[in-house]
Amino acid sequence: MTQIIDGKAISAAIKDELKAEVESLKGEGTQICLAVIQVGNDPASAVYVGNKKKACAYIGIDSLAYELPEETTQEELLKLIAELNDKGEVNGILVQLPLPDHIDEDEVIRAIDPKKDVDGFHPQSVGALCIGQPGFVSCTPAGIIQLLKRSGIEIAGKECVVIGRSNIVGKPMALLLLRENGTVTVAHSKTKNLQEITKRADILVVAVGRPKMITREYVKEGAVVIDVGIHRNENNKLCGDVDYDDVAPICSAITPVPGGVGPMTIAMLMHNCVEAGTRR
Ligand code: NAD
Repeated sequence: MTQIIDGKAISAAIKDELKAEVESLKGEGTQICLAVIQVGNDPASAVYVGNKKKACAYIGIDSLAYELPEETTQEELLKLIAELNDKGEVNGILVQLPLPDHIDEDEVIRAIDPKKDVDGFHPQSVGALCIGQPGFVSCTPAGIIQLLKRSGIEIAGKECVVIGRSNIVGKPMALLLLRENGTVTVAHSKTKNLQEITKRADILVVAVGRPKMITREYVKEGAVVIDVGIHRNENNKLCGDVDYDDVAPICSAITPVPGGVGPMTIAMLMHNCVEAGTRR
Protein backbone atom coordinates (compact mmCIF):
# COMPACT_ATOMS: atom_id res chain seq x y z
CA MET A 1 0.00 0.00 0.00
CA THR A 2 1.35 3.40 -0.97
CA GLN A 3 1.74 5.82 1.93
CA ILE A 4 0.22 9.20 1.00
CA ILE A 5 2.31 11.80 2.80
CA ASP A 6 -0.16 14.28 4.30
CA GLY A 7 1.52 17.69 4.14
CA LYS A 8 -1.62 19.42 5.36
CA ALA A 9 -1.71 17.42 8.60
CA ILE A 10 2.07 17.65 9.15
CA SER A 11 2.08 21.40 8.54
CA ALA A 12 -0.90 21.84 10.92
CA ALA A 13 0.99 19.88 13.60
CA ILE A 14 4.10 22.06 13.16
CA LYS A 15 2.01 25.24 13.35
CA ASP A 16 0.36 24.03 16.56
CA GLU A 17 3.77 23.24 18.10
CA LEU A 18 4.97 26.73 17.13
CA LYS A 19 1.82 28.34 18.52
CA ALA A 20 2.50 26.73 21.91
CA GLU A 21 6.15 27.84 21.75
CA VAL A 22 5.19 31.43 20.86
CA GLU A 23 2.69 31.46 23.74
CA SER A 24 5.37 30.39 26.20
CA LEU A 25 7.85 32.93 24.76
CA LYS A 26 5.20 35.62 25.31
CA GLY A 27 5.03 34.53 28.95
CA GLU A 28 8.77 35.22 29.16
CA GLY A 29 8.28 38.65 27.57
CA THR A 30 9.42 37.80 24.01
CA GLN A 31 7.13 38.77 21.13
CA ILE A 32 8.05 37.61 17.63
CA CYS A 33 7.51 39.91 14.67
CA LEU A 34 7.80 39.33 10.90
CA ALA A 35 7.98 42.18 8.39
CA VAL A 36 6.58 41.26 4.96
CA ILE A 37 7.34 43.52 1.99
CA GLN A 38 5.45 43.29 -1.29
CA VAL A 39 6.28 45.53 -4.24
CA GLY A 40 3.56 45.90 -6.89
CA ASN A 41 0.27 44.05 -7.01
CA ASP A 42 0.97 40.69 -8.62
CA PRO A 43 -2.19 38.70 -7.72
CA ALA A 44 -0.29 35.47 -6.92
CA SER A 45 2.10 37.36 -4.63
CA ALA A 46 -0.86 39.00 -2.89
CA VAL A 47 -2.31 35.54 -2.15
CA TYR A 48 1.04 34.27 -0.78
CA VAL A 49 1.48 37.39 1.37
CA GLY A 50 -2.11 37.04 2.66
CA ASN A 51 -1.47 33.40 3.61
CA LYS A 52 1.72 34.36 5.45
CA LYS A 53 -0.15 37.03 7.45
CA LYS A 54 -2.88 34.50 8.29
CA ALA A 55 -0.30 31.97 9.50
CA CYS A 56 1.38 34.64 11.68
CA ALA A 57 -1.99 35.56 13.22
CA TYR A 58 -2.76 31.88 13.96
CA ILE A 59 0.58 31.25 15.64
CA GLY A 60 0.67 34.56 17.55
CA ILE A 61 3.47 36.23 15.58
CA ASP A 62 3.04 39.95 14.89
CA SER A 63 3.22 40.81 11.20
CA LEU A 64 4.05 44.18 9.71
CA ALA A 65 2.86 44.50 6.10
CA TYR A 66 4.56 46.88 3.67
CA GLU A 67 2.59 47.02 0.44
CA LEU A 68 4.66 49.24 -1.84
CA PRO A 69 3.63 50.53 -5.27
CA GLU A 70 5.04 48.97 -8.46
CA GLU A 71 7.11 52.09 -9.18
CA THR A 72 9.03 51.86 -5.87
CA THR A 73 12.72 52.40 -6.63
CA GLN A 74 15.54 50.09 -5.64
CA GLU A 75 16.89 52.81 -3.32
CA GLU A 76 13.53 53.18 -1.55
CA LEU A 77 13.28 49.43 -1.04
CA LEU A 78 16.88 49.18 0.24
CA LYS A 79 16.21 52.07 2.63
CA LEU A 80 13.15 50.29 4.07
CA ILE A 81 15.17 47.07 4.51
CA ALA A 82 17.95 49.01 6.27
CA GLU A 83 15.36 50.49 8.66
CA LEU A 84 13.88 47.06 9.38
CA ASN A 85 17.37 45.60 9.90
CA ASP A 86 17.88 48.20 12.65
CA LYS A 87 14.47 47.72 14.28
CA GLY A 88 15.01 45.62 17.39
CA GLU A 89 11.41 44.43 17.56
CA VAL A 90 11.49 42.98 14.02
CA ASN A 91 12.88 39.43 14.01
CA GLY A 92 12.29 38.42 10.42
CA ILE A 93 12.22 40.26 7.08
CA LEU A 94 10.63 38.72 4.02
CA VAL A 95 10.58 40.33 0.58
CA GLN A 96 7.98 38.62 -1.58
CA LEU A 97 9.47 37.53 -4.92
CA PRO A 98 9.37 38.10 -7.83
CA LEU A 99 10.16 41.82 -7.70
CA PRO A 100 9.41 44.18 -10.61
CA ASP A 101 12.03 44.07 -13.38
CA HIS A 102 13.66 47.40 -12.50
CA ILE A 103 14.72 46.04 -9.09
CA ASP A 104 17.81 43.84 -8.66
CA GLU A 105 16.58 40.87 -6.61
CA ASP A 106 20.07 39.69 -5.66
CA GLU A 107 20.99 43.07 -4.23
CA VAL A 108 17.74 43.21 -2.26
CA ILE A 109 18.33 39.73 -0.79
CA ARG A 110 21.91 40.68 0.12
CA ALA A 111 20.62 43.79 1.93
CA ILE A 112 18.64 41.74 4.48
CA ASP A 113 20.48 41.16 7.76
CA PRO A 114 21.28 37.39 7.72
CA LYS A 115 20.01 37.22 11.33
CA LYS A 116 16.57 38.24 9.97
CA ASP A 117 16.76 36.28 6.69
CA VAL A 118 13.82 33.96 7.45
CA ASP A 119 13.50 32.95 3.77
CA GLY A 120 17.08 31.61 3.89
CA PHE A 121 17.99 33.19 0.53
CA HIS A 122 20.93 35.39 1.68
CA PRO A 123 24.32 34.13 0.39
CA GLN A 124 25.48 33.88 4.03
CA SER A 125 22.54 31.59 4.89
CA VAL A 126 23.24 29.43 1.82
CA GLY A 127 26.96 29.32 2.64
CA ALA A 128 26.24 28.31 6.23
CA LEU A 129 24.04 25.45 5.01
CA CYS A 130 26.81 24.37 2.66
CA ILE A 131 29.43 24.10 5.40
CA GLY A 132 27.10 22.80 8.11
CA GLN A 133 26.90 25.94 10.24
CA PRO A 134 23.75 27.37 11.84
CA GLY A 135 21.67 29.61 9.60
CA PHE A 136 18.24 29.87 8.07
CA VAL A 137 17.31 27.24 5.51
CA SER A 138 15.09 27.84 2.47
CA CYS A 139 11.56 26.93 3.59
CA THR A 140 10.38 24.50 0.87
CA PRO A 141 13.35 22.09 1.10
CA ALA A 142 13.38 22.39 4.90
CA GLY A 143 9.69 21.42 4.81
CA ILE A 144 10.48 18.36 2.69
CA ILE A 145 12.96 17.11 5.30
CA GLN A 146 10.21 17.49 7.92
CA LEU A 147 7.75 15.59 5.70
CA LEU A 148 10.22 12.70 5.38
CA LYS A 149 11.17 12.61 9.07
CA ARG A 150 7.64 12.92 10.37
CA SER A 151 6.48 10.18 7.99
CA GLY A 152 9.09 7.81 9.43
CA ILE A 153 11.20 7.76 6.24
CA GLU A 154 14.90 7.20 6.89
CA ILE A 155 17.27 9.34 4.78
CA ALA A 156 20.69 8.17 5.99
CA GLY A 157 22.39 5.87 3.49
CA LYS A 158 19.61 6.22 0.92
CA GLU A 159 20.13 7.01 -2.78
CA CYS A 160 18.53 10.45 -3.11
CA VAL A 161 18.00 12.07 -6.51
CA VAL A 162 16.88 15.69 -6.80
CA ILE A 163 15.63 16.84 -10.22
CA GLY A 164 16.21 20.61 -10.43
CA ARG A 165 19.04 22.86 -9.32
CA SER A 166 17.30 26.15 -8.53
CA ASN A 167 18.67 28.27 -5.69
CA ILE A 168 15.47 28.08 -3.68
CA VAL A 169 14.58 24.40 -4.09
CA GLY A 170 17.00 22.05 -5.89
CA LYS A 171 20.37 23.15 -4.50
CA PRO A 172 19.36 23.59 -0.83
CA MET A 173 17.38 20.32 -1.09
CA ALA A 174 20.51 18.47 -2.19
CA LEU A 175 22.54 20.02 0.66
CA LEU A 176 19.90 19.12 3.25
CA LEU A 177 19.68 15.51 2.09
CA LEU A 178 23.47 15.35 2.25
CA ARG A 179 23.35 16.78 5.79
CA GLU A 180 20.97 13.93 6.65
CA ASN A 181 23.56 11.47 5.30
CA GLY A 182 21.78 10.63 2.05
CA THR A 183 23.84 9.79 -1.06
CA VAL A 184 22.79 12.63 -3.29
CA THR A 185 22.64 13.13 -7.07
CA VAL A 186 21.36 16.35 -8.62
CA ALA A 187 19.83 16.08 -12.11
CA HIS A 188 18.99 19.11 -14.26
CA SER A 189 18.10 20.25 -17.74
CA LYS A 190 21.49 19.20 -19.17
CA THR A 191 21.51 15.76 -17.51
CA LYS A 192 21.86 12.85 -19.92
CA ASN A 193 19.93 9.60 -19.42
CA LEU A 194 17.66 11.13 -16.79
CA GLN A 195 15.54 7.98 -16.40
CA GLU A 196 18.60 5.87 -15.65
CA ILE A 197 19.57 8.24 -12.85
CA THR A 198 16.12 8.75 -11.36
CA LYS A 199 15.49 4.98 -11.38
CA ARG A 200 18.34 4.58 -8.89
CA ALA A 201 16.57 6.77 -6.34
CA ASP A 202 15.20 5.46 -3.06
CA ILE A 203 14.05 9.05 -2.47
CA LEU A 204 13.20 11.10 -5.59
CA VAL A 205 12.57 14.83 -5.15
CA VAL A 206 11.08 16.43 -8.25
CA ALA A 207 11.43 20.21 -8.65
CA VAL A 208 11.53 20.45 -12.41
CA GLY A 209 8.71 22.94 -13.02
CA ARG A 210 7.06 20.83 -15.78
CA PRO A 211 3.53 19.52 -15.24
CA LYS A 212 3.28 15.72 -14.87
CA MET A 213 6.69 15.16 -16.48
CA ILE A 214 7.66 12.33 -14.16
CA THR A 215 5.84 9.12 -15.08
CA ARG A 216 6.51 5.63 -13.72
CA GLU A 217 9.28 5.11 -16.32
CA TYR A 218 11.41 7.43 -14.15
CA VAL A 219 10.67 5.76 -10.82
CA LYS A 220 12.05 2.66 -9.11
CA GLU A 221 9.43 0.37 -7.63
CA GLY A 222 9.10 1.12 -3.90
CA ALA A 223 10.72 4.58 -4.09
CA VAL A 224 9.59 7.59 -2.04
CA VAL A 225 8.50 10.39 -4.41
CA ILE A 226 8.32 14.03 -3.32
CA ASP A 227 6.62 16.35 -5.79
CA VAL A 228 7.51 20.04 -5.41
CA GLY A 229 5.78 21.26 -8.58
CA ILE A 230 2.60 23.31 -8.56
CA HIS A 231 0.71 23.93 -11.80
CA ARG A 232 -2.84 24.44 -12.98
CA ASN A 233 -3.91 21.90 -15.60
CA GLU A 234 -6.25 22.46 -18.53
CA ASN A 235 -9.28 22.11 -16.20
CA ASN A 236 -7.82 24.70 -13.79
CA LYS A 237 -7.09 21.93 -11.26
CA LEU A 238 -3.76 21.85 -9.38
CA CYS A 239 -1.21 19.24 -10.41
CA GLY A 240 2.47 18.62 -9.77
CA ASP A 241 5.62 17.76 -11.71
CA VAL A 242 4.79 14.08 -11.13
CA ASP A 243 2.03 12.21 -12.94
CA TYR A 244 0.48 11.17 -9.63
CA ASP A 245 -2.05 8.61 -10.93
CA ASP A 246 0.63 6.84 -12.95
CA VAL A 247 3.38 6.90 -10.28
CA ALA A 248 1.52 6.46 -6.97
CA PRO A 249 0.71 2.74 -7.42
CA ILE A 250 4.39 1.75 -7.78
CA CYS A 251 5.99 3.80 -4.99
CA SER A 252 6.15 3.22 -1.24
CA ALA A 253 5.25 6.83 -0.38
CA ILE A 254 4.31 9.94 -2.33
CA THR A 255 3.24 13.53 -1.74
CA PRO A 256 0.01 14.61 -3.46
CA VAL A 257 -0.52 17.99 -5.14
CA PRO A 258 -2.23 19.83 -3.55
CA GLY A 259 -1.74 18.86 0.09
CA GLY A 260 1.87 17.61 0.02
CA VAL A 261 4.88 19.92 -0.12
CA GLY A 262 2.85 23.13 -0.62
CA PRO A 263 1.52 23.61 2.94
CA MET A 264 4.99 22.94 4.41
CA THR A 265 6.58 26.11 3.02
CA ILE A 266 4.61 28.49 5.25
CA ALA A 267 4.97 26.20 8.27
CA MET A 268 8.77 26.34 7.88
CA LEU A 269 8.69 30.11 7.38
CA MET A 270 6.90 30.34 10.73
CA HIS A 271 9.50 27.98 12.20
CA ASN A 272 12.29 30.27 10.95
CA CYS A 273 10.56 33.33 12.46
CA VAL A 274 10.37 31.65 15.87
CA GLU A 275 14.02 30.65 15.55
CA ALA A 276 14.91 34.26 14.65
CA GLY A 277 13.12 35.42 17.79
CA THR A 278 14.73 32.90 20.09
CA ARG A 279 18.26 33.29 18.65
CA ARG A 280 18.15 36.96 19.60
P1 NAD B 1 13.08 26.49 -11.65
O1 NAD B 1 12.38 26.68 -12.94
O2 NAD B 1 13.89 27.58 -11.08
O3 NAD B 1 14.05 25.22 -11.77
C1 NAD B 1 13.69 24.08 -12.49
C2 NAD B 1 14.90 23.16 -12.55
O4 NAD B 1 14.54 22.01 -13.29
C3 NAD B 1 16.11 23.77 -13.23
O5 NAD B 1 17.21 23.69 -12.36
C4 NAD B 1 16.34 22.95 -14.49
O6 NAD B 1 17.71 22.66 -14.69
C5 NAD B 1 15.58 21.67 -14.19
N1 NAD B 1 14.96 21.15 -15.41
C6 NAD B 1 14.17 21.79 -16.29
N2 NAD B 1 13.80 20.96 -17.30
C7 NAD B 1 14.38 19.77 -17.05
C8 NAD B 1 14.38 18.52 -17.70
N3 NAD B 1 13.67 18.32 -18.83
N4 NAD B 1 15.08 17.51 -17.15
C9 NAD B 1 15.76 17.68 -16.00
N5 NAD B 1 15.79 18.85 -15.33
C10 NAD B 1 15.11 19.88 -15.84
O7 NAD B 1 11.96 25.99 -10.64
P2 NAD B 1 11.90 25.98 -9.01
O8 NAD B 1 11.74 27.35 -8.53
O9 NAD B 1 12.97 25.11 -8.46
O10 NAD B 1 10.51 25.25 -8.85
C11 NAD B 1 10.25 23.94 -9.34
C12 NAD B 1 8.77 23.64 -9.20
O11 NAD B 1 8.41 23.70 -7.84
C13 NAD B 1 7.85 24.63 -9.91
O12 NAD B 1 6.72 23.92 -10.40
C14 NAD B 1 7.43 25.59 -8.81
O13 NAD B 1 6.16 26.17 -9.06
C15 NAD B 1 7.37 24.65 -7.65
N6 NAD B 1 7.62 25.29 -6.32
C16 NAD B 1 6.79 24.91 -5.31
C17 NAD B 1 7.00 25.41 -4.04
C18 NAD B 1 6.09 24.96 -2.92
O14 NAD B 1 5.98 25.63 -1.92
N7 NAD B 1 5.47 23.81 -3.08
C19 NAD B 1 8.03 26.30 -3.79
C20 NAD B 1 8.89 26.66 -4.84
C21 NAD B 1 8.67 26.11 -6.11
